[in-house]
Amino acid sequence: MSGSGLDTEIQFLPGVGPKRASLLQKELGVSTFGDLLRLYPFRYIDRSSIIPISEIRPDMAYVQIRAKVVRAEVIGGKRLSVMIADGSGEIEAVFFKGLKWVKEKLVPGAEFTFFGKPTSFNGRINLVHPEIDPATQGQGSQAGESGMAGGSTMTGVYNSTEKLRNGGITGKVMNKLMATVINIALRDVEESLPEYVLKEKGLVPIGYALKNIHFPTGMEALEKAKYRLKFEELFMLQLSLLKQKYIRRRNEAGIMMTKVGEAFNLCYKALPFDLTGAQKRVIREIREDMRSGHQMNRLLQGDVGSGKTMVAVLSALIAIGNGYQACIMAPTEVLAQQHFKNISRYLAPTGVKAALLTGSSRASERREIHAGLEDGSIGIIVGTHALIEDNVLFRNLGLAIIDEQHRFGVEQRAKLWRKSSAGIPPHILVMTATPIPRTLAMTLYGDLDVSVIDELPPGRKPILTMHATESKRSALYRFMKDQIALGRQVFVVYPLIFESETMDYKNLEEGFNQIADAFPLPDYKVAIVHGKQSNEEKNFNMDAFAAGRANILVATSVIEVGVDVPNASVMVIESAERFGLSQLHQLRGRVGRGSEKSYCILMTGHKMSKESRHRIEMMCSTENGFELAEEDMKMRGPGDLEGTQQSGLPISLNIASLAKDGTILNDARAYASSVLERDPELSSPQNATLREELRKDKYRIRDYSKIS
Ligand code: ADP
Ligand code: MG
Repeated sequence: MSGSGLDTEIQFLPGVGPKRASLLQKELGVSTFGDLLRLYPFRYIDRSSIIPISEIRPDMAYVQIRAKVVRAEVIGGKRLSVMIADGSGEIEAVFFKGLKWVKEKLVPGAEFTFFGKPTSFNGRINLVHPEIDPATQGQGSQAGESGMAGGSTMTGVYNSTEKLRNGGITGKVMNKLMATVINIALRDVEESLPEYVLKEKGLVPIGYALKNIHFPTGMEALEKAKYRLKFEELFMLQLSLLKQKYIRRRNEAGIMMTKVGEAFNLCYKALPFDLTGAQKRVIREIREDMRSGHQMNRLLQGDVGSGKTMVAVLSALIAIGNGYQACIMAPTEVLAQQHFKNISRYLAPTGVKAALLTGSSRASERREIHAGLEDGSIGIIVGTHALIEDNVLFRNLGLAIIDEQHRFGVEQRAKLWRKSSAGIPPHILVMTATPIPRTLAMTLYGDLDVSVIDELPPGRKPILTMHATESKRSALYRFMKDQIALGRQVFVVYPLIFESETMDYKNLEEGFNQIADAFPLPDYKVAIVHGKQSNEEKNFNMDAFAAGRANILVATSVIEVGVDVPNASVMVIESAERFGLSQLHQLRGRVGRGSEKSYCILMTGHKMSKESRHRIEMMCSTENGFELAEEDMKMRGPGDLEGTQQSGLPISLNIASLAKDGTILNDARAYASSVLERDPELSSPQNATLREELRKDKYRIRDYSKIS
């Protein structure tokens, strides 16, 4: 494509020049003609419909009306107020700039087309700085003016910034530049998808798509253009992810674990419950991977309490049954301890030896564990980061299970990888309790296989979630006392968004004091845990609560991951409006683990943003983590989702949305897979364009399995 007009610097586009070019570059990242063509509108305004003034509502995005000027007066020398009427009603148009010019134009009695966004001011609706055009037409689109795409009634709206507008690049100017660039450069755009793909998927050609994405000739043309561009984007992304996955599958040998083994069966038979259907399915999936001769790279997602530990244990026992060792790595000491306790219980009937290795293991203990791992007498090791220290060596590590992956850094995972024996990497199972929407998982971990436990063990009682404000605090305390009288325990969680924020600590401290006052010794014991405590202090308080010596645990969100206290039946979340949905859901998952009815109380201020209110309502209406994660993604966009900040999206999407285009994504992924099945290397002539495209920098995606 080099040498084509598309690479021409944007300053040479008529209407741009060096000054605007630098603005376009800085504000929108547009450096060339080609970049501008690929800057899509995020919205369209339909200029064909005129509505009566009486139907204008303040929440409408834009309105176009045809109205006569009733009177125009300048108020305080600063503001021009123009009353306009169309027979159905009257509305005020307000101008703060160009007063003289506008006043001269808007003579009483004259009729115009006004176009603008209704706003509500002092309870009345007005239009601030509407665009004004002759009454004889709806605003002809800019394309129409320059002879492009005649008949278009929809105008694209592009992302803009104050700097752009101040630099003269208004919406109108942007539309004009687009029309120009399409006139000049569209013919240089080469079709980026093979002919057969267009045919099989019913996609419009790239030229048509680009023209209509900027200047749609109608709704249908716009939909076709959008679909083509979105499909292409998602298809190419999935193609790159899947190609990596297939290449790895072919090249990367894995330890072949053909047996289930006796330890597995002994453990399985001794289970006090039946596995859920989802657990069984996931174990089958893992078992298939482990005996395939390829390395397993699987992500296991399951809500808190869905029984992932059980799956981890049984997977580890498959490794044991084939003569290998397994390790289970947790992000915190508390979690590692808890895992170890639970796992030891499950292992009892099997005779398999497990050990716990954490930062606080004593030196003598450590030496013993190191020896046991080296001679193979320890089958399963549970631990924290201590597991990846250089002096920890395995006789033959066959499976590495990583819990709550997003808490681990990339290098740490790489170290674990290198601990493998005999040059063959261990199978990798990554577990997370942070539900990630399917579309996001397919993109973030597109080169991993994903298993989902989407079913909770039977008999779990629903958690009653309620919303309350400050005025209900005394009622809340009474309720907590009632629960404590019944022998239950209570979590009270304060937000701590930035670990260093002194404000948050002040809130936490005040909260603690308030609770200590309301729940005095000797009747009540209150423990507190937060990130600024020493490990010792933290463990001491946590243990006091876990062992039932404290009735209430006041904490920051450090308890988000882990801690299993089945006797805790109440979760109070203070300033709940400050938490994201995923985090609220994680916190709520700390209760409801025992047989008692459990409660989650979301305390908020009286005033809340619309988004906060919606989050609280969602929390009160569903316990399904995936539903909440989907909603979270819709509200905040995939980039901000819990657990994704660190890993980040592999590439940024220009037009497709993971939140809204799940159907297209599914289709694109399935199709990418079928293309690769037919031509794994994309070496056939008809796939030359695809192969070429994937060489671009943006598809140089990190290989998650290598760094896991
Ligand atoms: P997760 O790690 O997914 O949060 P756990 O593995 O800790 O969940 O399981 C939560 C609780 O449910 C544990 O007490 C566990 O013993 C129990 N459990 C697991 N699977 C089942 C099952 N199939 N039926 C009943 N209880 C189960
Ligand atoms: Mg768990």
